[in-house]
Amino acid sequence: MSHIPTPGPEATDPDSFRHVEAWVFDLDNTLYPAHCNLFAQVDRRIGEFIAERFGLSYEEARAKQKAYFRTYGTSLRGLMLEHDMDPVPFLEYVHDIDVTPIGPSEPLDQALAALPGRKLVYTNGSVRHAENILARLGIATRFDGIYDIVAADYVPKPDPRPYAEFVRRFEVDPSRAVMVEDIARNLVPAAALGMTTVWVRSEADWSRPDMGGVGHGDHIHHVVDDLEAWLGDLSTGLAGPRA
Ligand SMILES: [Mg+2]
Repeated sequence: MSHIPTPGPEATDPDSFRHVEAWVFDLDNTLYPAHCNLFAQVDRRIGEFIAERFGLSYEEARAKQKAYFRTYGTSLRGLMLEHDMDPVPFLEYVHDIDVTPIGPSEPLDQALAALPGRKLVYTNGSVRHAENILARLGIATRFDGIYDIVAADYVPKPDPRPYAEFVRRFEVDPSRAVMVEDIARNLVPAAALGMTTVWVRSEADWSRPDMGGVGHGDHIHHVVDDLEAWLGDLSTGLAGPRA
């Protein structure tokens, strides 16, 4: 049985975040809400790609896709390890999606602008996908860097190795960093490095405990239901006097 954190959306205590110099955000279902269902398009295109590549029916391809996801963390990792597949055409195909279900978010942009410190994206997707999403949200100028699956040498979260490379590459002091993620188990290596962690909870099945999304242990420090509102409150609090 997984350890399931029970707190609701918490009142933000800015003092828990005054030490932070680097804000690390996951991309999909974190910087935009899971209910936008954008990732469903990526998910579908992964199935299509596998069906086409292996001459499978869509249903057979989906089974293969899900098996790889469970075993390797991403379908791409399974395809690379078991079939020595070139990741580049895969990444181009699966991220060629319609981003109009999400829209520009002025409140998110303002909250990010007001947060002191660097902001970085850490995604299991590609830089191109991240740039596409950030541009659509209208927040691209707020970020100082994007760390993607290519930079991670195609080793996805939650493998701890790319986290170590991430903090090295961006000279992040984990004790002065926050990681924000919708897949709670991806916070395990971040917490182990000494980062403060924020879980953006959703009803989406890939972050549900029964999909193995939560994991075990004390790796969830804060739970948030609405990132935009939470960051807005936090940035306001951080601009105010110390409690
Ligand atoms: Mg995510």
